[in-house]
Amino acid sequence: MRRKLVLGNWKMHGSLDSIKALTGELRASLNQAQNVDIGVFPTFVHIPMVAAELAGCSIAVGAQNGNAEAQGAYTGEVSVGMLAEVGATYCLVGHSERRALFAETDDIVAEKFAAIQAAGLIPVLCVGESLADREQGLTSQIVIAQLDAVLARVGVEALANAVIAYEPIWAIGTGKTASPEQAQAVHKTLRDHVAASNAGIAGGVRMVYGGSVKSANAKELFDQADIDGGLVGGASLSADEFIAICKSADFK
Ligand code: PEP
Repeated sequence: MRRKLVLGNWKMHGSLDSIKALTGELRASLNQAQNVDIGVFPTFVHIPMVAAELAGCSIAVGAQNGNAEAQGAYTGEVSVGMLAEVGATYCLVGHSERRALFAETDDIVAEKFAAIQAAGLIPVLCVGESLADREQGLTSQIVIAQLDAVLARVGVEALANAVIAYEPIWAIGTGKTASPEQAQAVHKTLRDHVAASNAGIAGGVRMVYGGSVKSANAKELFDQADIDGGLVGGASLSADEFIAICKSADFK
């Protein structure tokens, strides 16, 4: 039985005060969660403060991005090793906003995935199709190609210490959620694809769903056989909503 996992992607939101208050509310309510692992993903500049606020608490801290190079003349960048040093234990990679707005190709995503693991962090690999892809029946092909680009670089065994997030682009920040059946179908496709190379790894890898998850739809999604939790954007900025989503994963 895979443990549920709920991750909150705070994107480029918040101030020192608001992020500190949000972190404090989560700590007070979620530190005792028994059957779910929880992580929050603040901006780079908020990571040290959030990590300090969560010291001794079971809620993990993640980064939304990281550069694959260790050091160097990359003005404006932050390496994954630096993120580990300030308290991050997870790092998102391949988020559709990074792919679309920052031209991150499958090759770049694969390189970052490898660097994240080499730095001792857990990569959360995001894959997902556009609405046009879905309407043309290309969903499976797209998500498998995104996953394969990473597996070609690191090998299927690397998934023993990684998370896959299925995030249909048309559902991110739109209020349009994939139905539990639609999301389950893609998760199963991905898991079956991994199983074709290594059944043990496929059975253990956690796959979370992202795309307009909120407290009203979380439980139905998380009840699906191959959905092991959620990657939550907008709703993770509300303590009450995020706590309710985590609690809906904290069953059994
Ligand atoms: C995300 O940012 O990864 C996301 C899923 O956002 P939202 O929950 O707002 O759709």
